[in-house]
Amino acid sequence: MALTGLPNLPAPQRIFCVGRNYAEHAKELGNAMPAAGATPIIFMKPVTSLVKGGTLNLPKGLGAVHHEMELVVALGRGGGDIAESAALGHVAGATLGLDLTLRDEQARLKQAGHPWELAKAFDDAAALGTFTAAAGLDLKALDMLCTVNGQVRQNGNTRDMLFPVATIIAFLSTRWRLLPGDLIYTGTPSGVGPLRPADRIELTSSKLGSFAWDCA
Ligand code: ZN
Repeated sequence: MALTGLPNLPAPQRIFCVGRNYAEHAKELGNAMPAAGATPIIFMKPVTSLVKGGTLNLPKGLGAVHHEMELVVALGRGGGDIAESAALGHVAGATLGLDLTLRDEQARLKQAGHPWELAKAFDDAAALGTFTAAAGLDLKALDMLCTVNGQVRQNGNTRDMLFPVATIIAFLSTRWRLLPGDLIYTGTPSGVGPLRPADRIELTSSKLGSFAWDCA
C-alpha cells in the first residue's frame, strides 16, 4: 500500500510505534514515566494494520477501543547508526494518524507481563492521513487536535514529546537498519478515549491538514 502524498516512496514494510512519549498521557493511564537516560518504549504493528479507506472497522466484544492521535513520520532514506543531528534529514514526510488500542486488553496484557500485539496489532489498528513533505515542516512544533462527533478529545503539540523525532530515529537506527518507507508513530498526547460504531473521528493540524474516519 503506497503512502498517500508521498508517491515516490516505497510501500512501507514496518510500522514502529513509541509508547509513553507525552508526560500527561503516561499520567492519565497511571504509567511510570521513562526514567532519565532511558530509551524510548518501542513496539510494532504489522503493515496489515493500516486502514484502507475512510472506515475504521472496530474490533467487537474485546472491550474498549481507544483512539491515540499521533504524529506519524515516513522515512525517505534508511540507514544504521544515524546520528541524531542528521536524523531529520531521513524524514520524507509527516501526517497525523491513529494508533488504535484495545485498552482493556492492553491492561490485561500489561498486568500479566505479556506482549502487546493482541491490543495493538489487529486489522485497522493504524490509520494514516495524507502525508505532507517534510521540507519546511518544524516537527518539534506541530499542533494537533482530535475530535469525536465534534467534541474535542485530544489537543496536543509535538513540542511536549519526551523523545523528539530525531532522538527516536537515532535510537531505532541503533537496533534496526532503517528502510525507506518505514513509518514511525511517535506517541500520543493526553485525552485518549473510547470509540464506538457510528462515531466520526477527525484529526486536524494547522500544518498537516484534516483527516476524518467513520467508525463501524
Ligand atoms: Zn500510541
